[in-house]
Amino acid sequence: MRAYLLTRQKKNLRKCDVPIPTMGDDQILAKVMVCGVCRTDLHIIDGELTKPKLPLILGHQVVGLVEKTGKAVKNIKKGDLVGVPWLAWTCKKCRFCRNSKENLCENALFTGYTKDGGFAQYISSWEDYTIKLPNREPFLLAPLLCGGLIGHRAYQTLRKSLLGAKIGIFGLGSSGHIITQIAVQEGYDVYVFVKRGDKNAVKLAEQVGAKWAGFSDRRPDFKLDGAIIFAPVGELVSRALEIVERGGVVVCAGIHMTDVPAFKYSILWGEKILTSVANLTRQDGQEFFAKISKLAISPKVNIYSLDQVNEALEDLKLGKITGSIVLDVSTSTGKAKK
Ligand SMILES: [Zn+2]
Ligand SMILES: [Zn+2]
Repeated sequence: MRAYLLTRQKKNLRKCDVPIPTMGDDQILAKVMVCGVCRTDLHIIDGELTKPKLPLILGHQVVGLVEKTGKAVKNIKKGDLVGVPWLAWTCKKCRFCRNSKENLCENALFTGYTKDGGFAQYISSWEDYTIKLPNREPFLLAPLLCGGLIGHRAYQTLRKSLLGAKIGIFGLGSSGHIITQIAVQEGYDVYVFVKRGDKNAVKLAEQVGAKWAGFSDRRPDFKLDGAIIFAPVGELVSRALEIVERGGVVVCAGIHMTDVPAFKYSILWGEKILTSVANLTRQDGQEFFAKISKLAISPKVNIYSLDQVNEALEDLKLGKITGSIVLDVSTSTGKAKK
């Protein structure tokens, strides 16, 4: 099958012809239709996330059609539309798994990081961790599998401690613009902060229902009840803490962030909560897709062909993209059309 391989960190992905993945009794084999590109893919390529499986097929927002199922597979059948997310497998034995925190499993495997992902024509996946998807346009489903799903975990973590309805979103990438839509539909006032000069992001924020959108280096004259930081920028931690009210909560949603500079204790004082979210659980997946079926969520999607994967990653890195990126795996050359 055609696949793009990371053979060494800090190198471009290489087009290769590799065998179709083998499949265990409790696994499925899916033909990949589309696969989302995520900032985490850049963190893996750039070496900010260490020790990936090498060589590696990246990609953890995989939408495909089931082609084969293992003998022990019960709930998924040939022809089903499925999603393969970041969490690929957990041990079910460690203290985290036993305490409903499989997202922190010490022995977990992650799709497109420590197990091969979806920048390829086929993928194998464990049944338990494969998500049956609603019958929607695959291009619109792919960004939901990480940007939506892990973004939603950050949003739920925020809501657990939230004392009011004013939410700040820092960074309007794939996650940010999906979670803004959900929060607005659930009755929150959303204030979006983007990188200085990114007028396209300000426009997108307004399109997806933000009450206010502006540049993150500007000091706003309002206070918020909580904030989620999606941008991988450590400086934003103090920026967010400064503008949340006492009792407010700040959630760091990224898997990697630049160092957080020292800040005055006074901006944390007042029982403010600073936390991060890591990965996802299977339950997150079920809850998220049950919720999505009742909401009108429409990611802004930039489509590239699989053969344009290096270009797509470069565009993401350079900040040329507004919204989400999805690779059309069925098309071999040229920019795929929506
Ligand atoms: Zn991701
Ligand atoms: Zn475990």
